[in-house]
Amino acid sequence: MTGDIKTALHKRIIMSLYALVSTIAVLVSVFTAGSAVNKKNDVTATKKNNSSKAASPTDDRTEMVTRGEYTLDANYKRLLLVNANNPLPEDYKYGWNLTKIDSKYHNGQLDQIDAGIWPYMKAMIEAAWKDGVDLKVWSPYRSYDTQRILFYNRVKKENGDEAKAATAVARPGTSEHNTALCADFNMANSRFENTEMFDWLCKNAEDYGFILRYPKDRINITGVMYESWHWRFVGINAAKEINNLNVTLEEYVLIKKLNPQDGLYKDPISQ
Ligand SMILES: [Zn+2]
Repeated sequence: MTGDIKTALHKRIIMSLYALVSTIAVLVSVFTAGSAVNKKNDVTATKKNNSSKAASPTDDRTEMVTRGEYTLDANYKRLLLVNANNPLPEDYKYGWNLTKIDSKYHNGQLDQIDAGIWPYMKAMIEAAWKDGVDLKVWSPYRSYDTQRILFYNRVKKENGDEAKAATAVARPGTSEHNTALCADFNMANSRFENTEMFDWLCKNAEDYGFILRYPKDRINITGVMYESWHWRFVGINAAKEINNLNVTLEEYVLIKKLNPQDGLYKDPISQ
């Protein structure tokens, strides 16, 4: 073989190798592009799934569910946060949206509740009755004056120690009872924890939008002593999410980056 032929052969081999490498490179890029397209489709599919998912507590869509004879919006929510650090504003219109609770549903003196949440509470009480559990409203909405009287009665009991009194009875303007979005059931007494009403609420209240507002192990967060009898309406989807996350309303508002005063004067009909 002459030197020229050798060089020509080498050139051919190199060219063939080059062609092979190029083909592989093209094939690889096509394959990669293909999988990228697939991924894109996956993302679109996921997005589509999300949009057809149930309404979530962070959006305003409605999601009608049946509870007994009632049809309720599972995504209707009232996340207003009221506590010692978040008092109701001075211009708060106490009792701006009240309805009267029929006497068969309550065993206490007070009988007013927020009109928007009453269908949920009523459905819950009737469902408990169906299960043979005598759930009744003990203390729902309290006016500013009623809360003031309760607070100063407690201060007297604590020998003038307002700070100590405030851990048991909220100062006027810092009580959830002032918002009409909660209720004490049957009694405001630690014996409630050992009743079938409490057991029933623990199992079922979230299905009607209520949470145990002041759990035993969260006193450091809520600033309120454990109250087995005090249940707060937040909304069905929100209650389930709060329970799944195992958080208090204080933490939930932070996690969701909500305005603590969300829903303050919101008309429940247009919500
Ligand atoms: Zn209460």
